[in-house]
Amino acid sequence: MRTLTFAVLRRLADGELHSGQTLARGLAVSRGSIWNALNEARAAGVRVQRVHGRGYRLRDRLDWLDAERIHAAVAAAGLSVRVRDCCPSTNAQMLILAEAGAPSGTVLAAEMQTHGRGRLGRPWHSGLASALTFSLLWRFDKPIAGLAGLSLATGVAIVRALREHAVDAQLKWPNDLLWHECKLGGILIEVRGDALGPCLAVIGVGLNVRLGDDEKRRIDQPAADLGAVAAAARSRSDWLIDILRALVDVLRLFDARGFAPLRSEWSSYHVHQDRAVRLTLPDGERIDGIALGIDADARLLLSTPDGVRALHAGDVSLRAQP
Ligand code: ATP
Repeated sequence: MRTLTFAVLRRLADGELHSGQTLARGLAVSRGSIWNALNEARAAGVRVQRVHGRGYRLRDRLDWLDAERIHAAVAAAGLSVRVRDCCPSTNAQMLILAEAGAPSGTVLAAEMQTHGRGRLGRPWHSGLASALTFSLLWRFDKPIAGLAGLSLATGVAIVRALREHAVDAQLKWPNDLLWHECKLGGILIEVRGDALGPCLAVIGVGLNVRLGDDEKRRIDQPAADLGAVAAAARSRSDWLIDILRALVDVLRLFDARGFAPLRSEWSSYHVHQDRAVRLTLPDGERIDGIALGIDADARLLLSTPDGVRALHAGDVSLRAQP
């Protein structure tokens, strides 16, 4: 979505009527440009009302991120937050920033992410100002192999933050956040660096705050959003602040002691714990068994008729047995 469209939407954020002429004059563009911007906003799912002869207003309030407030709330924890209006993928952008030397603790959040990714290049859908889509850069002195449990550690941090607000969140190995078996969010970690260290991780999170009809249509599995499942309405900024604080606590622990101290807590949140599951391997092979939990290296332990197998996340996909 173009910069002008964001500028128009911010002018409309007060919920009042604004004439096309006032908007055009205020932003020093033609009325045709305003008209195009409003059409682009509508195409992105924003409900804009036109009142004949008087102008335009938003039907629903947009839940913008408050960059200054978020930054101030987490600066003491060593984080530095940037908010972008529109970004293809916060992870891809953060990898560029990391390459250019951005410090550990840099956070990039987007009001709108247009090409979000899940594992194996699968798409992650989100609308304008209706999800948390952000990436956190963390630099480690350890070898890349020492980051095996980072995705699970990240999940623990987010579940802690959500449960503080009575959201009954659970985890699905290796990277999904669920609510009552509906997908609430996902984690995508990308690592770079030396096999022997140092290395860095870009920790990407996509979390549904208010799923729009358009996203619901595009998601091909049961999904949930915080707006529907949390006890009280909270802003995206509030959720982001709490999640970032929880992440810093967990990352410091993970950095010092690895995944081991988080292992039993992770298992307590695991949706498939002690249940019959089916794993699908990259070559299509299926393994049925009982999910026993995870080992200290974050591998899933599966009890099968041939004994206990330990599986790396890799390209493996886990589901309840049909
Ligand atoms: P696995 O269980 O193997 O991780 P997955 O289907 O959960 O598989 P991911 O790569 O974690 O795959 O996530 C991408 C998938 O998530 C998409 O293919 C889509 O089915 C689903 N998805 C995309 N956007 C959303 C969203 N906003 N909310 C919930 N689910 C989504």
